[in-house]
Amino acid sequence: MVAAVVAAFIPVMGVDFALDAYVRAQTHGQLEQVAEREVARLEAPVQEALDAVSSLALAAAGGCATSFTSGAQREVEQGLYLRQIMVERLDGSQSCGAFGRGLGFNATARPVTLDDGKTSVTVGRFEQLAAPALRISREIDAWNRISAIVPALPPSSNGLSDDATVRVVLADADASLGSDGVTAGDAGELVTATASSSLLPVQVDAAMPFATARAAYNDLDATFTLIAALLSGACLVLGLQLALRANLLAFELRRAIRAGEIKPYYQPVVDLETGRLTGCEVLCRWEKKNGQVLTPGSFIELAEATGLAIPMTESMMRQIGEDLETLCREMPGLKVSINLFEGHFRDEKIIENVQQIFRKTIPYTQLVFEITERRPLEKLGDARKVIAGLHALGCRLAIDDAGTGHSSLAYLQTLGADVVKIDRVFVEMIGEGQSSVPVLDGLINMAKDLGLDTVAEGVEEKVQADYLLSRGVVNAQGFLFAPALKASVFKDMARRERPVQIPQAA
Ligand code: C2E
Ligand code: CA
Ligand code: CA
Repeated sequence: MVAAVVAAFIPVMGVDFALDAYVRAQTHGQLEQVAEREVARLEAPVQEALDAVSSLALAAAGGCATSFTSGAQREVEQGLYLRQIMVERLDGSQSCGAFGRGLGFNATARPVTLDDGKTSVTVGRFEQLAAPALRISREIDAWNRISAIVPALPPSSNGLSDDATVRVVLADADASLGSDGVTAGDAGELVTATASSSLLPVQVDAAMPFATARAAYNDLDATFTLIAALLSGACLVLGLQLALRANLLAFELRRAIRAGEIKPYYQPVVDLETGRLTGCEVLCRWEKKNGQVLTPGSFIELAEATGLAIPMTESMMRQIGEDLETLCREMPGLKVSINLFEGHFRDEKIIENVQQIFRKTIPYTQLVFEITERRPLEKLGDARKVIAGLHALGCRLAIDDAGTGHSSLAYLQTLGADVVKIDRVFVEMIGEGQSSVPVLDGLINMAKDLGLDTVAEGVEEKVQADYLLSRGVVNAQGFLFAPALKASVFKDMARRERPVQIPQAA
């Protein structure tokens, strides 16, 4: 019930977490686009300068000849960004450019060489420009170089919020080409994105405080929280319904046990050599008032989980005593096999119960108690005491579903088992004309070596019965002989004093 309530509120708790992750991803994508646009904006003037430098490099080789100056003037006139193209001596002594405009460029950072190895870009100040400028230079010969000046476009936040930052940095120099917006400082968590130029050794960083990005999604947050609250409500109702249904089922099972609706059915165990009845396994059935009969698969786990397994077994044992008292007196060799739960092996109460219930009905020596190997016994010491107590009365102990659990037969024998019930999965391995079934044979041999009796379960085919008998397994149960039967039907069958007929295989 508590788990259902806690689980129901997971959607509400999850909304914040999910929305934060969504906002981070969205903002990162937005910043990435801005950074990439900035890189493209930054590259445009540089590309124009590079083109001009390439086309005038030859003319510039002749120094400040008219062919160069007229070409330079044409490029500056036609260019979108070009401010000047000039020939400079490497020692800075003589230079000329277009329109006789100013030639004074003051570098503010170290030049950065581009990938071609002969072109460099320098950040600095150009006399006519208020903003920082870029000088793109290429050496013509050992004394001269041609340089083009373009403005370094100031970064723009491209419609980002006021406290977003767009910063352009030259990868090689510690120079920044400027930044737009407020640097994060102590703005808390930042969402960031970076884009690099393939033309220039330049990188653009875009950043925004997470709080600003998250604030833009407040409306969505409210909607999501509302949806999550509705979802939580639905989960809560569903969870409570499930919990109530489990409680109701447990309540119903408790009532059914008290009302004696959980009834023992008896599946015959036969001697494969003679076909005679040697015993039975008691299997419970829930006989509902509406005539429906439920097999244990639909309630046995609930019985175990709710502690009802103990009163259920007690009620079953009382009914077994009443059902079979006379028959067991008539057939003193008949063995009655009763399934117990792991819970019965935790204390010795079961021994008292067996005494109280069977003292005046069925001799203890005719009783066999089955313990499944599928579930491990919690406390081995206590289990041994219970088994010793049952043995002391004269009852026998069978290991059910042998070979399907995780314990070895040797370990089971140390518990004091007398009988091994060979599970249906092994019997199913027997096919027509098979001369050996290694796993099954191994299990049978191991049981024999340990001095344990065997009973095969789930025998459905004549060929399986024949094979088991050939391997020395004499006792068997299964649909080939009979399913679990109502007490009256079982007793009639037992008293007919006729061997159970094993039908011939088709
Ligand atoms: P189990 O103890 O291994 O019982 C054998 C199961 O195999 C029974 O299923 C039986 O009806 C079924 N069976 C018998 N012969 C054949 C056959 O030839 N072919 C096939 N396919 N099945 C066959 P059931 O009665 O549904 O019981 C299922 C399990 O529930 C039992 O397995 C046992 O672990 C548990 N159980 C049943 N009654 C009780 C009970 O009173 N107390 C306890 N503790 N467990 C019980
Ligand atoms: Ca069993
Ligand atoms: Ca079994």
